[in-house]
Amino acid sequence: MNSDTRTIGFIGLGHMGGPMAANLVKAGHRVIGFDLVPGLLAAAAAAGVEAAGSSVAVATAADVVITMLPAGRHVLALYRDEGLLTAARPGTLFIDCSTIDVADARSAHEAAVAAGMRALDAPVSGGVVGAEAAGLTFMVGGAQAEFAEAEPLLAAMGRKAVHCGGTGAGQAAKICNNMILGISMIAVSEAFVLGESLGLSHQALFDVASTASGQCWALTVNCPVPGPVPTSPANRDYLPGFAASLMAKDLGLAAGAARAGGVPAELGLKAAELYAAYAAGGGADEDFSGILRTLRDEATTEHRTGPENYEKGGTPA
Ligand code: NAD
Repeated sequence: MNSDTRTIGFIGLGHMGGPMAANLVKAGHRVIGFDLVPGLLAAAAAAGVEAAGSSVAVATAADVVITMLPAGRHVLALYRDEGLLTAARPGTLFIDCSTIDVADARSAHEAAVAAGMRALDAPVSGGVVGAEAAGLTFMVGGAQAEFAEAEPLLAAMGRKAVHCGGTGAGQAAKICNNMILGISMIAVSEAFVLGESLGLSHQALFDVASTASGQCWALTVNCPVPGPVPTSPANRDYLPGFAASLMAKDLGLAAGAARAGGVPAELGLKAAELYAAYAAGGGADEDFSGILRTLRDEATTEHRTGPENYEKGGTPA
């Protein structure tokens, strides 16, 4: 039996928020939820979440309000324009788990504090599978006391919560981590495409790189070619996994932060450009490892139209 008697408000019951709210219910919490999409609200209700008529109704009833929304503008609109902060009881703890811009996270925190509330940014990694299995990692920014207060709730939805520092530090950790991931997936994909052109089998490159200095998560868990890692999305026609649209979004946030801070981050900016083009070119709903196919197509086209080939009598594609 759960001795925590706080009522938890949950706004945004989509791919991530739906299962996260359901896991809070499973852990014995009273959860009141809202989503703009009636079908999602009904699905959450079937999992034991009490359906509210609006986000303001959630804030009125809750001791802690968790948001899991698409982007910063949704969070700021709810916090500042739609009355969430004025509806809540003074001192209510607001935990935003959405992935948003660091500057937006700081603005959301300022608005919460100005309204007499307390706030944390707590974005997640682990995707829908992690959300369903209560296996998420939370990266948290804000005061230590509020982090300690949030920890039992985060533990009901995830495996690990890291207190990364003050306001915005959770979002900063999230975009830095995903910048590493985006760049490393492109690096691994380019290596496979180069290996193909050199006549190297996928398995041979995998066997070497996975136990040598090229080892990384993009290779050993989310391997972008079918075969070496049977559970990777490449084996199911790049069904996500982690959708390329979300990788493009996170790299866009990282690129924006790098530009704003005068950090060159040349590979990060290039990765943001490549993922934006991949998502816009039909890959949005594929796993982000599907970018390998685009890189391979480009390599083939480049090879066919390259100056060397013209000299050999090749025809432009
Ligand atoms: P989603 O679009 O499935 O869910 C967002 C939900 O918010 C939607 O159901 C939408 O109706 C609801 N919503 C929007 N505005 C609202 C409002 N004013 N009031 C109430 N509900 C509102 O998105 P998702 O995949 O669940 O992702 C949520 C966040 O988590 C995003 O910031 C995303 O970047 C981040 N994230 C997603 C994944 C993933 O694998 N899906 C992984 C890590 C982080």
